Amino acid sequence: MEYIDLRSDTVTHPTPAMLAAMAAAPLGDDVYMEDPTINRLQEMSAALTGHEAGLFVPSGTMGNLAAVLAHCQRGDEVILGNKAHTFLFEAGGISALGGVHSCQLSNQPDGSIAMEDIQAALRPDNDPHQPHTRLITLENTHNRCGGTVQSVAYTRQVADFAHGRGLKVHLDGARLFNAAVYLGVPAKELTAPLDSVTFCLSKALCAPVGSVLCGSNAFIERARRVRKMLGGGMRQAGVLAAAGIVALETMIDRLVEDHARAHRLADGLAKLPGIVLDPGSPATNMIFFNLAPEVPFNAQQVAAALLNWRVKVSATGLRRFRLVTHYWIDDHAVDQAQEAFQQVLQKA
Ligand SMILES: *Cc1c(COP(=O)(O)O)cnc(C)c1O
Repeated sequence: MEYIDLRSDTVTHPTPAMLAAMAAAPLGDDVYMEDPTINRLQEMSAALTGHEAGLFVPSGTMGNLAAVLAHCQRGDEVILGNKAHTFLFEAGGISALGGVHSCQLSNQPDGSIAMEDIQAALRPDNDPHQPHTRLITLENTHNRCGGTVQSVAYTRQVADFAHGRGLKVHLDGARLFNAAVYLGVPAKELTAPLDSVTFCLSKALCAPVGSVLCGSNAFIERARRVRKMLGGGMRQAGVLAAAGIVALETMIDRLVEDHARAHRLADGLAKLPGIVLDPGSPATNMIFFNLAPEVPFNAQQVAAALLNWRVKVSATGLRRFRLVTHYWIDDHAVDQAQEAFQQVLQKA
């Protein structure tokens, strides 16, 4: 029997329709910009995000890194949240590879960065002691803050503020479409006001590999050079982009199902005595909760016991879990996962 894998939406395998599209995709050398399938994916991505151009990259991490390196010079400063994926989980690439300094501001519980904190963090232009503030990055949905959604109004507010001061704004939109579907708005409402955005095809959209970075023609030209420098210039990568096209065409609207199942699973888990659900969880497809103090196991031990019930979950702290719903989690899997938690915690 297969595992019910709730560790992440990155565990999603491609669908049969994606595999068929991959087998049939017209291909070329994308470093020569001659792969028709890549070109089509990039055009679709630009249109969806309200930007001039797109760039297929192997991962969200490379998309964010290429964006920061295309916006900033060495020694420049980027403002980001202290719970941002780019700060926590991208191996420090912006500083290690880009020489870019980070200014980490507290993420609010909803994943935003307070406007007054951004204002207070700006560096004066004329002080040789200080780095230049060049870029602000936002994250939507916000992973570590619970899959929370940043509003169109907040996004515009940050963009207007930044542009009034000659700064750029990049969005880490790994789960951009979860945010758009949650708000019931086209994704470009959340991205067109910004200077660049990365979104992942390989998470809830179910494609096996890849992300797309979007922005102006001039920005994408710089990012293409950075991508080559990082070793991300691929050849007949249309074989991957073909799955991405199916993802954009068929996998966005159905994200509401993942959100509904996350709600159902969270409601069920919240009824179990040993579980303390985070307030407001789930916002989208992620459920965050802690073990109650009286439970005599830690999260690792519970996760190990759940494997006997064919359920995989992420322990993200000593007593903390993250569960993520996705295309391959159906109603039956939700019931099974809830039953497994109940059985394991009963033994407490
Ligand atoms: C997964 C993720 C990334 C990075 O994507 P990879 O394709 O895994 O490199 C960036 N930002 C956020 C918020 C993510 O969840």
